[in-house]
Amino acid sequence: MLKKFLSSIVGLLGLKKDSEYVKNHNIDANVSSSMYNTSLMIVIEIWMIIRYTKRYVFDAEIPADFPTWLKYTKNFWGLLFVAIIVVIYDVMYKKGKIKSRTLGNVVMILFAGYCLIFGMYVSHHDFAAGKMITCFFVMALYAACLLIWKPYVSIIFLTVLFFGYSYYLDNYTFDKEGVQVIMLSGDRVNYYTLLITLIMIAISIYHQRVNEAVKSEELERIAVEDDLTGVPNMYYFGTQCKKMMGDAAVKPSDKLYLFMNIENFKTYNDQLGYEKGNEFLKNIANRFKEVFKDGIFARQSDDHFVALVNKAKKDEYINKAVNVLAEEHPEVYMSLKVGGYSPVNREETQEICCDRARYACGLIKNKYGEVYREYDKKMDESFHLRQYIVNHIDQAVEKGYIKVYYQPVVWSKDGKLCGCEALARWDDPVYGFLSPGKFISVLEECRLIHKLDKCIYEQVCKDMHTSIKEGRKVIPVSMNFSRLDFELMDVVQVMTSLVEKYEIPKENIHIEVTESALGEKQGSLKTALNRLRELGFALWLDDFGSGYSSLNVLKDYKFDVLKVDMVFLSNLQENESAQKILACIIDMADRLGMQTLTEGVESSQAAEYLNKIGCGRLQGYLYGKPMPYEELIEKIRAGEFEITDEKMC
Ligand code: C2E
Ligand code: MG
Ligand code: MG
Repeated sequence: MLKKFLSSIVGLLGLKKDSEYVKNHNIDANVSSSMYNTSLMIVIEIWMIIRYTKRYVFDAEIPADFPTWLKYTKNFWGLLFVAIIVVIYDVMYKKGKIKSRTLGNVVMILFAGYCLIFGMYVSHHDFAAGKMITCFFVMALYAACLLIWKPYVSIIFLTVLFFGYSYYLDNYTFDKEGVQVIMLSGDRVNYYTLLITLIMIAISIYHQRVNEAVKSEELERIAVEDDLTGVPNMYYFGTQCKKMMGDAAVKPSDKLYLFMNIENFKTYNDQLGYEKGNEFLKNIANRFKEVFKDGIFARQSDDHFVALVNKAKKDEYINKAVNVLAEEHPEVYMSLKVGGYSPVNREETQEICCDRARYACGLIKNKYGEVYREYDKKMDESFHLRQYIVNHIDQAVEKGYIKVYYQPVVWSKDGKLCGCEALARWDDPVYGFLSPGKFISVLEECRLIHKLDKCIYEQVCKDMHTSIKEGRKVIPVSMNFSRLDFELMDVVQVMTSLVEKYEIPKENIHIEVTESALGEKQGSLKTALNRLRELGFALWLDDFGSGYSSLNVLKDYKFDVLKVDMVFLSNLQENESAQKILACIIDMADRLGMQTLTEGVESSQAAEYLNKIGCGRLQGYLYGKPMPYEELIEKIRAGEFEITDEKMC
């Protein structure tokens, strides 16, 4: 309690240390207010000189000679002279021509002191003549508001000034007859009331300024700092790069944009949890900041960082950054991948340069031992496709270039069609037919995947609706969901409104989520999946066995169907271990109460083996490649596929 009280007193008196930012803000505020106040002073002094000149030269019966005129106006000239110096200083300081703040303080203190001496001098004469000491009051007020110091300085200064001056007036003022003049008690009360009021004004202005400074310091910090790590953010990066590239002395081709990605960071997050992951990112970011201190550096997002550096020192930077990562992650293997791009001209924006560096970096993903790749002309074509995808996804959705292809899924025991997987294709007027490999990861990277997926889900529901309307048997469809779909849209709401709109029984829609999406224990994703399951949609775990965290995922989530990745099928015949693993996976799924599906079945031997070990469903080129809806219907009509009567999960 006492500590709190003392601390607030210390704060009130301004005894706490201000940050550099607050100090600078206060000095700048003093410069601004002194500029306005002093300009006003210049006008007043000029007016006073004109008035005195009129009175003693033009209107007087005997015009004053030059020395007499100067004697009458010397104080005004003095003030005018100092005021002009102060204004010149203020203007030069504001324009950045003078940097020294000490010089400014000295100039302003001299000016305030001069004003006070002038006020005291004039008021002393007035006091002796029995008049009010208005001039002193005005000048004291002027000086106190002209410069705002820390409260304790203002208190000491004003108290000494007022007590000192009243002592001086009381002891050294005599009227014309030589009788000592003493301040009346009523005037004395007003005198000290003014002192207290002035102190309070000075304190309140000071705190007001500090609050303003703290707020704008915080805003400035937020604007340029990355929330999680505290290193510069992309806004800061953008402004600094623009500044650098705008400098005519900088040759763009001497510079290099770097994009850095920490490969396998996701595994670190999965294994050690989010909190540890964040801590790791903070450490790495701050150590990278040190590495790139001669250049411009920022965190772009997730585990991605960017820098603009001198090309000549490229290897040094990359080696240092690689070493930082090697030192910081004893528990999990992670590697640094770096992409580079050297701008061709200064007009290339930092966004496009970082994108190119990122693109080059993406090309060495999972390439063991390769740390750096620089963007070159040969990459232009595929890079432009990437840009094209990002820029045209809306149009592609709108104009129907996004198409759903259906790949048959059959029961392993009788080969009858028990469902289809909906797979996206982009039939573009410029680039032609594009497979998901070309656009899914790009859309995910740019957080646009939900636009495509929403379009796919709607088309699937529409096709199913047509089947129902036309009296055909409904073929259940499984659809792919990206982890980001759950962040970028309300999947539960989207799916429920689609099945309502197209009047589709929910059990015919299966939601496929890849195991890699589920590694992190994201509360919101888990909640959404549980909710979808409660509502009657079946949940399928896709690509099981292709990632690192499969078993964890099975422990933490509930799935209806386990889709085994096709990795186990390559050379199945010769690879006994793969056969055993497959058998174990099917057995484990069975024990966990899940049905099974193996994808990528291309040979009848693989199909036979999978049937033997009890895998329920099969999907692969052996049964059919992904095809348009009309083709699928046609094949069913032609008897190529027989739709099962068996009820699915
Ligand atoms: P996935 O979900 O694991 O889909 C299976 C992929 O394996 C499909 O590739 C399919 O054409 C291919 N495939 C099926 N049978 C065989 C086979 O016997 N042999 C071989 N070699 N491949 C086979 P596709 O259509 O290129 O899709 C690739 C991936 O793209 C999908 O993997 C899925 O993760 C993603 N994807 C596709 N469509 C969508 C979509 O609409 N939304 C989202 N978010 N992702 C999608
Ligand atoms: Mg799938
Ligand atoms: Mg799959």
